[in-house]
Amino acid sequence: MGYSERIYQRASETLEKRKADAEFTAKQNKMHAESLIPRLKELDREISSLGLSVIKAIGMKENAEEFVQRLSQRSLEAQEERRRLLIDAGLPEDFLTVKYSCSKCSDTGFVGGYRCECYGKLLKSIAYKELCDNFPIEKSTFDTFKLGFYSKATDPHTGVVPHDRMSDILNFCKAYAKDFDLRSQSIFMYGETGLGKTHLSLAIAGEVVRKGYGVIYGSAQNLFSKIEKEHFSRDNDEDAASAVLNCDLLIIDDLGAEFSTQFSVSALYNIINTRMQSGLPVIISTNLPVKEFESRYTRRVTSRIFGSFTTLAFCGSDIRQILR
Ligand SMILES: [Zn+2]
Repeated sequence: MGYSERIYQRASETLEKRKADAEFTAKQNKMHAESLIPRLKELDREISSLGLSVIKAIGMKENAEEFVQRLSQRSLEAQEERRRLLIDAGLPEDFLTVKYSCSKCSDTGFVGGYRCECYGKLLKSIAYKELCDNFPIEKSTFDTFKLGFYSKATDPHTGVVPHDRMSDILNFCKAYAKDFDLRSQSIFMYGETGLGKTHLSLAIAGEVVRKGYGVIYGSAQNLFSKIEKEHFSRDNDEDAASAVLNCDLLIIDDLGAEFSTQFSVSALYNIINTRMQSGLPVIISTNLPVKEFESRYTRRVTSRIFGSFTTLAFCGSDIRQILR
């Protein structure tokens, strides 16, 4: 539902290709069969002219029923003859039928005006692949998150045991991803660099996309520059901005690392505000200390975030330093 325009575009291209391929194969099969069995052409002509006669006969008042019955009978006989001819020529009896990837919707993506199951699956897999292509989703899962890197000793300044705090955060994020829906809360992750914020937000993104939701994941720098470019160019369909506002889950990673401008600050406010009004969740992570965050993004933004987001305070020592 909340996928970006590009994902819908790629899905419908895939469906069109599936449909065209299936029809092309059927056409080739037909030519091949007709070259082996010349009688097939005649039969096909007869079957379709019988069908046409049935439609015409419906307008006839008297004797229509008997007439239609006779035509249908003849049509069945012709179809049976065609079937037998194929088998005699050593071909499968369904050799001439178009074999669509999805028999429910004949690869159109819709059944009775509703999105077919195959279309939903396709959107999901394209969205997932796109996320994997751009981010290390497979590497950053809940399973690869190592609590062992966090100290079990109480921090003398804060009184917090990093290992326990991070274990709570990990469990919270796991449950969040598992139970995700469009009414899920928004999350604000903060703490110094290298404490696993990106890892956990990617783990959430991966799970949520697998569940079939549309996720936009990006660094603040990347998202804002895309929106800004769109904003100041005339010929565009505002795809990035609308996707950021309407996707099922928006994840803004590393807010504060971007070169912030008046435009980006007001864009951030608009994004948060609009999504909150439609009740759509956002996950924001930042390395900035709260005070600095507030002075950079104004009170307006921070009061929005602290008033309604669930805040997760990451702690510990930089994992990248430990690994080195
Ligand atoms: Zn289908």
